Amino acid sequence: MRNFRKELWFNVPTRRAFINITTQVEECLRESNIKEGLILVNAMHITASVFINDDESGLHKDYEKWLEKLAPHEPINQYLHNRTGEDNGDAHLKRQVMGREVVVAITEGRLDFGQWEQIFYGEFDGGRRKRVLVKIIGE
Ligand code: ZN
Repeated sequence: MRNFRKELWFNVPTRRAFINITTQVEECLRESNIKEGLILVNAMHITASVFINDDESGLHKDYEKWLEKLAPHEPINQYLHNRTGEDNGDAHLKRQVMGREVVVAITEGRLDFGQWEQIFYGEFDGGRRKRVLVKIIGE
């Protein structure tokens, strides 16, 4: 069995964003030269997510509205977490809902996706450099 590890770096200028990282993950897979196995993609920060869904701008706006309803950024003093002096209590909750990681099967050297599936990085507290881990195991 072989393995491959790589970190993808992001610096999102806005507080929140969804970024399609499918092409970057496919590049990692090519670089690994692994044809059959599993690929794990996870955010290495507790205020960012990696998830799979449709690359459809309406859906992404729906996520933004839905997450803001569930865990509004303001007022920041509604979150006990922000008593630490931070203002990202909402971002921790948004990350929990959108998830930490995805695992995708690799078949014949390709991501074995269902139709429309794409991998996204979800940023909920941007403005600084953050990492995503790509780990591939297989042969
Ligand atoms: Zn925090």
